[in-house]
Parts: sequence; C-alpha cells; structure tokens
Amino acid sequence: MPLDPAFALALPAEDLDQLERQGDVVYAVSDQHRLVYFNAAWERFARENGAEWPSRTLSLGASVIEATPAALRGFYEELFASARRAGAPVDHEFECSSPRALRKLRMRVYPLTPAGWLVTSAVVVESLAPAPDPAFVEAAYVDANGLITMCAHCRRTRRADAQRAERWDWVPAWVARLPDRTSHGLCPGCFSYHYPSSPPRG
Ligand SMILES: [Zn+2]
Repeated sequence: MPLDPAFALALPAEDLDQLERQGDVVYAVSDQHRLVYFNAAWERFARENGAEWPSRTLSLGASVIEATPAALRGFYEELFASARRAGAPVDHEFECSSPRALRKLRMRVYPLTPAGWLVTSAVVVESLAPAPDPAFVEAAYVDANGLITMCAHCRRTRRADAQRAERWDWVPAWVARLPDRTSHGLCPGCFSYHYPSSPPRG
C-alpha cells in the first residue's frame, strides 16, 4: 500500500486496512495536493485510464492538480478548498467513460485534520432509475440475509456481489426512495472520516 509516513498519523491502521480492501478508488492528498496515499483500486483505475493518468502520477508526492487537464485545475483546487471551508465532505459527479464502459463517478472529498484530504470515487448506477430490474438488484445488492445496506452518511449502497473487494455504489433511485429491507451501515470512507478512532466495525 503506497503511503506517506506522515499521512499514516492521520488515520489509524485499521482504517487504512478498510480503505485498502475497498474496490472503490480511494486516495489522499496533502495540503499541497500531493499524493500521500492511494489504494489498490486507484492504481488499477489509473492504469485502465492510462492516457489521462501517465505512470509518473502513480508515485507518492505527485501533484493531482498537475495531473489534471489545465482547464480543470482551478475547479478541482476550489473543490478541495470548499471541503476545507465547510469542514465537511463535498461531492462532485462527473462522466468518466472508459473504452469498455459508459460510466459516471461520484467523487467525495473529505477534509482531514489537521491537513489534506481523503478522496473516494463511487460508480453512479443510473440504470436502476426509475424502475429497478428486480433480478439485477437481487444479484448486485441484496446480501445473504435479504438486506440492502446503505451508508448512513453518504448514502452509497454496498455491492453484495463484489468478488474480492468492498464496493459502494451511488444509486440515485434509492436515495429518492429507500428500497424495502434497507439496513444502514458505514462505508469505509465515511467510517474513517466520521469515526477516526473507533474500533473496526464488527
Ligand atoms: Zn459513506
């Protein structure tokens, strides 16, 4: 797990383990927007989008602002700054289609104390709106106990069919109206941010 030692102090080890096991992209940057941590999913995502993410941006210390197209740099600097001012997470949705998939991502920027930010990206599942296909829902989100788990903070929904790593998707239809038999949990990003010194979830 690529990790700047200074950042290790900002989050307890068990929180980092949670973030590392996630299938969603997670990274953290310093106050100068330099990479201090990224998880395995980030590395995978960066490789799949090689044209936008040259390999030098995979290194700790690289500036995520410099790796952003020039026209968008001001926007992202302001996004980070707004989370800092608010003292609370801010969200941004954007199109990020790959050669194989049409895709929309929802980015959440958590301001860290005392400095820097933690960033997560979740897939936005719009195809479920407005009428979910029951078979798809069963396969993707209903767990062995017949429950759908939604994060109590960011309202992303846990994938029950994720093979190797935890994944939490943003499903707008379910935010508008909760599905039956929803239970509330915490996604790893919100768990780390809102409950930084808590013991690991049971
Ligand atoms: Zn969450």
